[in-house]
Order: sequence, then C-alpha cells, then structure tokens
Amino acid sequence: MTYHDHHFHPLGYAELVNGLELMDASDIGEVLRRVATRADQVEGPVVGQRLNDEGLHEKRLPTRKDLDEVVAERPVLLYRYCGHIAVANSAALKLAGIGSGTSDPEGGSFDRNADGEPTGVLRETAIAVASRAISPLVPGPSDAEILRALGQLPAMGIGSVTGIVSVGEPLWCGVPNELDVLCRLAPALPIDVDVLVIAGNPAELADAAEQIRRSAGRIRFLGWKEFADGSFGGHTAAMHEPFSDRPDTRGTDRLDREHAMTMSRATTMLGGSVAIHAIGDRANDAVLDLFGDLIKMGADPTRLRVEHASILTDEAIERMARLGVTASVQPAFLASESSWLEKRLGPDRIDRVYPFRSLLEAGVPLLGGSDSPVEHPDPEIGIRAAIDRHGLNPSQGITLDQARALFGPAGRF
Ligand SMILES: [Zn+2]
Repeated sequence: MTYHDHHFHPLGYAELVNGLELMDASDIGEVLRRVATRADQVEGPVVGQRLNDEGLHEKRLPTRKDLDEVVAERPVLLYRYCGHIAVANSAALKLAGIGSGTSDPEGGSFDRNADGEPTGVLRETAIAVASRAISPLVPGPSDAEILRALGQLPAMGIGSVTGIVSVGEPLWCGVPNELDVLCRLAPALPIDVDVLVIAGNPAELADAAEQIRRSAGRIRFLGWKEFADGSFGGHTAAMHEPFSDRPDTRGTDRLDREHAMTMSRATTMLGGSVAIHAIGDRANDAVLDLFGDLIKMGADPTRLRVEHASILTDEAIERMARLGVTASVQPAFLASESSWLEKRLGPDRIDRVYPFRSLLEAGVPLLGGSDSPVEHPDPEIGIRAAIDRHGLNPSQGITLDQARALFGPAGRF
C-alpha cells in the first residue's frame, strides 16, 4: 500500500533533516552543548528544532539567560517540537525589538519575569516576531538538501502528502517564502504534494493558487490552512476549562471569525478546501460553529476539515458527524504525549483525547498524518499508535485496517 500523509510540512521537514535536532537531548546542559556545537558549524544565527522540555531532566524550557551563556553575540532561536513555543536568546530578542516595553501581539505572548523582562519564551504569534527578524540571516536548506530530505519519504511507503506551506510569514526560520521554493522544485519532487496554503488575505491565497496551477510538476492547490489555537505542550490549546497544571490559563484563542469567513469563501471560490488547526475542546467547538455557518451558506462539508481535533466533547463528535466534516488526526502524538498529557488535562478530561474510535463509530470521515517535523513521518509509527494508544484513553484504539485507512489516499480531494 502506498501511503498519503494528510498533514505534512515539507519545508519544516527539510530543515529538520538538515538542521539542529533537539528532541532527544536529556537535559538543558545537553541542549546548550548542541547549540554551542552548531554555533561553531554555521555562520550567523543558530536555529534549533524540536526542543522537548517534557523530555529534559529539568522538565522546563531553557531561558534566554541559559542560551546567552553559550552564544551571546549571535541570535539563537529554538523551536519547541510542537511549533507553538520557541525560546530566544538576548541577541535574538534584541534583533526582533522585543524588550520589557514591547506589548504582546494579537494571539500570542512573551513570557516575562517578575521585573517584566522577557524570559526568552515566545508563545504562538509572538514566535513570528522573532522568526521574521532572524529569517533573512539564515540561509535555510539548499534545493538539493530539500529534495534529498523529501526523497526519504518513498522508502517509508509515502507516495504523496498534503503539504502545509506558508507564503510571506515564515513558519520556520530559513525559508522566507515556502511556496516559492516548493513551486520552483515542483518538477523535481519525489512525491506528489497537495498544498494547503497559510495565507493572510484573499488576494494572497488567489495568487498562491495561481502560482501552484502555473507550476509544472507534482503539486496541486488543495486549499487554505488556519489556526484556531495552539498546543497541549505549550498550554496554548484553547480549552473550556483551565489546564490542570496551569490553572491560570485556558489557552490561546487564535480564530478571528470574520476573517475566517472571508478566507473560507475565498478558498471555496478557488475550488479549495478549508483546513483549520484545533487542538482544545473550546477551539474545536469554535471551528464547528464556523463550519456550521459555512454549510448553511452553501459550503460543501466534504471540503471542510478540522486539523488535529485532539480533544472533543461528545456533542462535538455528534456535531461533526451531523455536519459531515472531516477530522484530520495525527496518532503519533499519542506516543509523544503519553508521559505528560494527563498532568495537563487531569484524570477526567484524559478520557476525551484523540477519540478515534468514537469518531469512526459516529461516522466522521478520518484522515491520518504525521504533522512532520512535529513527528517522524513514518506512517507505521502513527498506525501503531492508533491501535496501541500508549496508555492514553486506550478504549479509543482502532483496528489495523482502520488505522491503515487513515493514511490511505482516500479523502484526497
Ligand atoms: Zn502542522
């Protein structure tokens, strides 16, 4: 069987394969040693990927001060593996103009110490403030490196992906306009890529669709991608109730309803789908409210998909089935989150995470992806996790055939 990864970041993956990987570091000392080693190998800023505070002995993120101890003169920016949190050193904050007087951007925040000074931890849209400043100084992977990274996928059985690509605003440092790169490389791509575009306005989206249509090669326009919230790991998933281990927050609401309506209509006019990232139960309800309104206005429900749909109320599952919208899930998250997710959510809510079985039984169409570089792209990892559950809400395990079907080409629009 040839697999389709329904949620994949092609340029983020290429950067991970060629860049500084931090996922398996055992403690902050090791993170800092790897940053120092990388600083000797590259010129300019040091950018790291897949920082995992839950896997570190200290169970915390490094701070700007930690990073300053190993690299003080040049910017350092480390992305948490979920992509919704990053840590910057003082030089990176300075370059980005982030100081004690800087106010938080809409949909994001800079963590601060008791004196109001930024700690270096950036959440959600605050990450882009730093990425934007640093990106022009980071060369990013070469065309050959990108093609070599994507060339590893067929050996894992992957013949095609739904690739999430940004225009303008960089998602990861190093590639200023991901779509330009992908379109340029389209004729040489080793896999087919259905492109979901992260675009900020209808004109940008229409231009992106046209650019994809003009590019000869293995890419096609699939639609528009938006964020309704953040991640469990970063305490930024938008929840109805506060996090069990951070009672001061219910996460970050990133969905601008009016803007989402405008963009959804724009992508529909272009023949595209709407794909919205929603992890928390509150974010999922907000997206379903939006989808319900779009359907009333004539939208085709098979072209509306929730990315992740990680924690759902029973009513949300019923509503997804009734509306006929798709859930695009990433079973490999179960393996990565099994050791700490209950701490975030508490013993009751944990029974509502990744409810694959309930979704299938309700008749909700499911698609499977890796969200790579968040997870390793090998579909077997996701398939096994969908069955085994790694101890998380185990009654929601599904069968091997059901798990394989998640990564099938069915559901490609
Ligand atoms: Zn993603």
